[in-house]
Formats: sequence, structure tokens, C-alpha cells
Amino acid sequence: MLIGAHVSPAGGLPKAIERGVERGCRAIQIFNQSPRMWKPSVHSAESIAAFREAMGASDIDAVLIHAVYLLNCASEDPDIRAKSVASLTHSLRVGEQIGARAVVLHPGSAKTGDVPSAIARAGEAILEALTESEGCPLHLENTAGTGGTLGRSIDELALLLEACDGDERIGLCLDSCHLFASGYDIRTAAGLAGVVGEISAKVGAERIGSLHLNDSQTALGANRDRHANVGEGELGEAGCAAFLSEPAFETLPCVLETPGVQRSGPSAEEVALAMTLRERGLAER
Ligand SMILES: [Zn+2]
Ligand SMILES: [Zn+2]
Repeated sequence: MLIGAHVSPAGGLPKAIERGVERGCRAIQIFNQSPRMWKPSVHSAESIAAFREAMGASDIDAVLIHAVYLLNCASEDPDIRAKSVASLTHSLRVGEQIGARAVVLHPGSAKTGDVPSAIARAGEAILEALTESEGCPLHLENTAGTGGTLGRSIDELALLLEACDGDERIGLCLDSCHLFASGYDIRTAAGLAGVVGEISAKVGAERIGSLHLNDSQTALGANRDRHANVGEGELGEAGCAAFLSEPAFETLPCVLETPGVQRSGPSAEEVALAMTLRERGLAER
């Protein structure tokens, strides 16, 4: 498992590698542009080359791009839809340029509308972005189930995948906090194995392509997306250790998106803790 953290690329893409190295990361995740703005960042050829060179010289073996939060591929508003497809396409192209493992995407929101038609719209929009880009995989992230967000259950992820014609570039990003908040009790290795079994049966375990390790501030099934620092939430150290040592996750990048002790994101200490918890989890299996 390649354990690491979500880091900022402020100051230029190569800075993200620097921040990852400072934190002892084996994997990093970045936003390829300001997460609350539509305007795409244009990365120069020099910046991309410098990023690749810095990554090659580091212990970081995987980079994920998180698509920006404004996107709603399931939107009924033609303007939001067009902007979402354009932004996702841009992220996938940047992903291709920097050699990203994948772009991670929240599949969209039905808002207060009908879920099956929202899933169909999301599938169409996602397929458009895939057609407009080459190569870079896209991982649909499971959600905590707040409001009308799509991807709150394995069944919904399976339907989304189906709406995307099962495109082979699509995989899943599993977020531990979101799984727990959407009602999957993954506090034990056995509980998590049950979830992985359901994914194997309904989606295929080989679709699981990346992971977010976040503890949860809110209770099982609360449908609220409130990340806690590793070991400090409802999952606790034991739950995090189970997630980090799951055999089906062995080769995957796993990034922390925690608030951090200083509220400045995951620290080197927290990344190190995750690595220790993985060892503990493995020893207990
Ligand atoms: Zn996440
Ligand atoms: Zn979250």
C-alpha cells in the first residue's frame, strides 16, 4: 500500500511533491486547480516536466488528482453540466500529462430530484469527459450520503458504473469516512471484508483503484461528511488499522484527507501513524 496525503500544489505543481516528501508520503493527491473555482489552471510544459522529474527522484509512486467540488455531472442545469464536463475533461488531461493514477470524482448530486435519472445524466456526462480525454483513469468516490449525493452505496456505485457503460477507465476510490457515514460498519477487519465481498460481487474488486483514509467525526450511518484525524474518530485506531491492512487494498494508493492537528491538513506524524497502524493491522490478521 502506498500511504500518503492530500497536499497543496500552491506555488506550482512541483511544490506538491516537495510537500509530499516532507510528510514521508508514498502517494499524494492534489487539486489540479482551485477547488472552489471553475477557472482551470494552465500548467506549463516546464512545470509538468519539473513535476515528473521531482516525482521520479522521490519515494512518491502514485499521484491522484481530486476533481474540484463544484462539479455536478448529474446537474439538470445545462450551464453547470457543460462546466462540469469541461472541468473534468481538463482534470483528466492534466492527469495524463503528469502520469496520475487517476482523477478522483464525486459522481454528482441528484439534489432533490429523482435518483435514477440523475445517475443516467452523470453517466452520460462522465462518458463525454472520457471521450474528450485519453488514458487517465477516473475513480468514482463513494460518498457519505449527504443530501442527494450519488454513490452512497455499493448498489449506487454499480448503477453509476453501468450508466458509464462499464468503461474500463473507470474505477472506484473508497473513502473510509464516507463508507462508515453511509452505514457500512468497517470498524473491524471482518466488517470491512464483508464490504469488499459485496463490491467484488456487484462491481468487481479489480475496480477498486484508490483509497482515502479518514476517520469519521460522526456516527455510523449519520450521512454526514466530517473527517476526523486518523484514530481520533468513530473508526478509532483499530478501525483505521483494519482498513490499512485489508488484503484487497494491498497495492493501492491511500491518501489522508484529514483536518490535521493544526487544521492545516495531514502532517508527517499522521502519515507515519497510518504506516504504523497498517503494520499493527497486518500483525493482527
Ligand atoms: Zn475522500
Ligand atoms: Zn469527505
